[in-house]
Amino acid sequence: MAETLRLNFKYYEQDGLSRIGHLNTWKRRIMTPVIWFGLSVIENYNFQYEALTVNEVECFLCNAYDLLFQDKNGERKKLVRNLSEKIALKCDSGGFQTMTRNVKISVDQVYSLQCELGCDLAVQLDFPLNPLANKEANKKRIYQTLKNLERIIEINEKLSILPVIHGYDKDTLNFAIKGVIDILGEDPPAIGIGSLVPLLMTSKGAGKVGGKKKVIDTLIYLRQKLPDTFLHVFGAGGTMAYLIIFCGADSFDFTGWIQKAGHGVIQLPGISDRFISNRKKRKALNRKEMETFLECVCPACRSNKIADFKGRSERARLLRAIHNIYVYQTEIWRIRRFIREGCFREFVFSRLKNSVWKSLLKYADRQLVNLGVYSSKCEKIDNFIKDKNVEL
Ligand SMILES: [Zn+2]
Repeated sequence: MAETLRLNFKYYEQDGLSRIGHLNTWKRRIMTPVIWFGLSVIENYNFQYEALTVNEVECFLCNAYDLLFQDKNGERKKLVRNLSEKIALKCDSGGFQTMTRNVKISVDQVYSLQCELGCDLAVQLDFPLNPLANKEANKKRIYQTLKNLERIIEINEKLSILPVIHGYDKDTLNFAIKGVIDILGEDPPAIGIGSLVPLLMTSKGAGKVGGKKKVIDTLIYLRQKLPDTFLHVFGAGGTMAYLIIFCGADSFDFTGWIQKAGHGVIQLPGISDRFISNRKKRKALNRKEMETFLECVCPACRSNKIADFKGRSERARLLRAIHNIYVYQTEIWRIRRFIREGCFREFVFSRLKNSVWKSLLKYADRQLVNLGVYSSKCEKIDNFIKDKNVEL
C-alpha cells in the first residue's frame, strides 16, 4: 500500500483504455469502474436512505462544505454515518463551493470532519480552476492545491487520501502532476481530475479552453501519462459516463439523481432524460422506450404501476429516484461485464447510437484509433456483435 496516501489500485482486465480493477482503501476494497451517488439538500433523510439502500448501491459521496455549513440540524451527517455502515463513502472537500460562495475553510477542518465520518476516501481540499481566468492565475490555484496535499499528508493518520489535480491543457496538467509526484516521491496510485464540469455544460465549453472534446482529450492524455493510476472524474455522471470510461476513467460522480427525479425524469440506459407523459416541452417516452421501462425490474418498478411514477408527490419522486439509481448502478455492473468480454467499444456505440453524445463518441473513438488503442475504425459494429453473438 502506498504509504503516503494509504491506498493502492490494481487493474486486472483491460479493453482499450477501459479496465476493471480494485481500489484498496484503508477500509475496504472497491471494484472499478465505479459510480458514486451524491447526496442532496433537497430530499429528507428517509427519502435518500431508502433510495440508496434498496438498490444495493456500492458507493456514495458527501461534501464537507455541505456538512459544515448547510446541514443545520445534523440530519445529513446522520444520514452519511448510517449509510456509510453499508456503502463506501467518499467525502469531497467542497473546494468548489467554498470558492464560489467565498467561505473560508481549511485542510485541517475538512480532514477532521473526514476522520469523524471515517470515510473510505478523503478528497483533499482543492481550488478548482476558472476556465476564463488566465494561465498564471490558474497556476496559482494549482500551487495552493498542492500545498494542501502536503498538509493533509502531514496530518493524516488513518484515512485514504485522493489527491486532486486540475488543468485544461497539457502544460497545466503536467505542472499539477509533477507537483503531486514531487510530494509523494512516486506516481500517484490514485488521482481525481476536477474543473471539467464547465466544459461539459455547452458544446463549445467555456471560453478558449474548449468544450466536451477537451474532456475527452484530457482523459486520454491522463490515462496515458499515468497508466497504472486510479482515475476519478469529479461530476461527470449521466450519459457522459460511458464516454469517460471509454477514455480510461475508473470512477465518477453522479449527483443529479435527486433533482432529475424531482423534475419527473425517468432514465433509461443510454437514453437521455424522458418523462412519462408529454407536457410543455418535455420529451415523453416513445413506444419502444416505454417497453424498455416496462421491462425494468428495479425495486420501484417491481411493485408499482406506471401511473404511480407520475406527479409531484413524495412517493412518486421516490419511485423515480429508486428507478433512476437502479439504472445507473446496474449499468456499471453491465459495463464491467462488457469490458471483461473485450467488447466494451461495441457496447458504448450501441448504447449511444441514438444519443446526442454520438458525435462525441465518434471523436473519442477516432483519437483511440489514431493512438493505436484500437486497430480499425468502428464501422462494422453490427457485424462485430453478430460475430460475437452478443445481445445488446
Ligand atoms: Zn425501474
